[in-house]
Parts: sequence; C-alpha cells; structure tokens
Amino acid sequence: MPVHLVQHPVALDALVGLRDKRTVSGEFRRLARRISLVVAMEATRDLPTSAVRVDTPLETADGQALRADIVVVPVLRAGLGMVDAVLELLPQARVGHIGLQRDEHTAVAAQYYSRLPPDLSQSKALIVDPMLATGGSAVAAIDMLEQAGARDIRLVCIVAAPEGVAAVEAAHPRVHIFTPAIDRELNVRKFIVPGLGDFGDRLYGTL
Ligand code: URA
Repeated sequence: MPVHLVQHPVALDALVGLRDKRTVSGEFRRLARRISLVVAMEATRDLPTSAVRVDTPLETADGQALRADIVVVPVLRAGLGMVDAVLELLPQARVGHIGLQRDEHTAVAAQYYSRLPPDLSQSKALIVDPMLATGGSAVAAIDMLEQAGARDIRLVCIVAAPEGVAAVEAAHPRVHIFTPAIDRELNVRKFIVPGLGDFGDRLYGTL
C-alpha cells in the first residue's frame, strides 16, 4: 500500500503545535510551513537527477542536478498553507490550483475552480491538501489531474483519516500518500479525530 508515514521528529513536533487548540493563526502558519517542508522532502526523495559538472573557485566538481518537471497543486483553500514550503524546496516547480468546496452537511466535494499548467504527462505532480478526511476532495483532485494528463501523482497531507486513505487507495491505487499521521477516525461531521479542527479556519483565523 503506497502510504508513507513521515515520522520525522521535526514533523511530529510541529504536529503537536498544530493540534493544540491554543495555537493562534500566526504560529499555526509557521508550523504548517515547517511540517510541509519535511513531508514534501520525503515525497520528493526519488526525483530524478542528472550528472553535472561545476567549477568551484578551486577546481571542478561533479554533482547531481534535479531534472524533473514538478507541478505543485494546492487544493484551495487549506492547501495554500503548504505551497510556499514546497516552492522553497522546488523553486522551479509550476503551480496549478484546484478549488473544491466541501458541503458542510454531506461532506461532498464540489469543484469551483481549476487552473492547471499544460503538458503534465512527464510531470511529477504533488497535490498538497493538509487534511485527508473522507478522501472526497483528494479523489476529485486526482481525477482532475489525471484528466489533464498527469501520470505521476503524489498526495502530500498533514493528517489523514483511515477512511480517506482507503478512499484514495480504492479509487487511485497507484497514487502515493505522504502524511506524518493517520488519526483514529472521522466523527459524524466528517472531521478527523483527534485531528486539529478546521485547517483552513485555523490557518486564516476565520473561525
Ligand atoms: N478538513 C479539515 O480542515 N479538518 C478536518 O478534520 C477534516 C477536513
């Protein structure tokens, strides 16, 4: 099963702060960025490189340069809290945006926005969506990327529910999921428990 549990101590430490209900938006944003860096690092561990040679001030050195076309796709709005971290690691990445709104009562994801870069067939696509809850948004985002031609799609999360992991696995068994935590379950309102609450609201102070 392509689920990667990213249990790096820096990620686990940031996750404690994100879960804490006393953490205010400014600190929440900093922690979201820190944890996203670690998870994205893990999600890009296998990116292809090619041999290069550079002149140092002293002599010539051999090295490896990234040679992947990377596309980062935040799922609006919570995914925006992760995108800067990925762009810090991969400044050359192209960025697409997908807008999915979760119905408060049914938890069904409806698309309201999509703007993806062209020519995705050779790209490594990283969907960033912090809360993998029912999996509805993740499955819809993966569907949209596949329809746009993407073939290598990875899902980068901060907290996942077993239900969401199962939904993605059932619909897209080849998509790798990277997350620091798989929590216990969803509650009746389809929130992850213990979770961290509404990620977008906490990120933007819209509670
Ligand atoms: N989205 C959130 O922000 N939190 C959850 O617990 C589930 C979905």
